[in-house]
Amino acid sequence: MLELLFLLLPVSVAYGWVMGKQSIKKELLKQQAQMSRALTSSVSLLLKNKEEQALDSLIQYLNDNPQSIENYIAMAQVFRKKGEIDKAISIHESLLNSEQVELSPFDREVLELELAQDFMSAGMLERALKPLSGLLKSDHANEALAMSLHIFEQTREWQNGIDAYLNTKTTNISARNRQLVSHFYCELASLSNNAKNKKQLYKRALKVHSDCIRSLVSLAQLYLVLNQKQKSRELIVQVLDKDPNFAPALFNIAPECFVDEFEQAAWLYWLIKEKQITSVSAHNQMAEYIVKEKGLEEGRKYIINHLKSVPSVRGFSKLIELEREFFMSDAHFEQIQTLINQYIELKPNYECKSCGFSTNHFSWRCPACNNWQTIKPLIGLDGI
Ligand SMILES: [Zn+2]
Repeated sequence: MLELLFLLLPVSVAYGWVMGKQSIKKELLKQQAQMSRALTSSVSLLLKNKEEQALDSLIQYLNDNPQSIENYIAMAQVFRKKGEIDKAISIHESLLNSEQVELSPFDREVLELELAQDFMSAGMLERALKPLSGLLKSDHANEALAMSLHIFEQTREWQNGIDAYLNTKTTNISARNRQLVSHFYCELASLSNNAKNKKQLYKRALKVHSDCIRSLVSLAQLYLVLNQKQKSRELIVQVLDKDPNFAPALFNIAPECFVDEFEQAAWLYWLIKEKQITSVSAHNQMAEYIVKEKGLEEGRKYIINHLKSVPSVRGFSKLIELEREFFMSDAHFEQIQTLINQYIELKPNYECKSCGFSTNHFSWRCPACNNWQTIKPLIGLDGI
């Protein structure tokens, strides 16, 4: 009996929603009676494991009441959620292959998407791709592309994902799909050993999704290797224009882009004054530059001022370093410094803005929630 309840609950809800849009009470009552008769007989057949007869009965009802396709989709979804994917597949395939039921192109597409979802839930990824590839040029192109990309992301078949994108009807592709495709291009680029090929792939990633920080950073690194420092600098500026939060991630490549320390200091000044960057690494570097140019006292003043507005462990560590002369002995200073460093090492440097996952190793895809470009350098007391 449990099966019966499971079936009837969402179906009656979906039915009520569909019919609620029509205000003719009489019609509603008549159809409800018809439907419950059809459902009761189908469900009792299903319970007796006479699936074929049950489906025939459902199809007959659908044929008489073509507006109620939502009910069957809702029913199949319940089967899928319960893990009885074979039943969901039977319902969808029977409806799609039935000669008795006349489906509108829209309903056919919806059923094909549902069927693909069944195969995905069953782990039959190859079979899911079949209905999806046909949908890439339909009104459901975006949903079909999202599902295809999800599959190729799992199988790490980046080129196949890109091909699916290129086969998709060009209008109406969601920002999320574009972002995914841009990372597919970046994944391909990172696998290539050819600088020219890499450059081309990163540029394509940017064409698909202009906010793809990963391709900008990767291109900046690539131009540095090719000794084209000016281009590298321009790209770093672009990254900071788009998302200043990534600044700490650039500190390992940025210094090499500059001709001398003065140019680097000018860049730091621009970051702090123009971009209002609160990153501790940027301010600590600035303090070092001030110490060199104006002496220890000015550097200390700078760090103390910054600590007052943005307290941070790394900033405090820098201050201790500059205060070294006030310690009783070198051993005393090193003891304190070691303790602070131990604390810093315990804390993560990066955090996923989508799920909160924290880590010391930066990656473009969050291993916890699988979102791309959501891991960012940590800010705040333990920030970098
Ligand atoms: Zn995450």
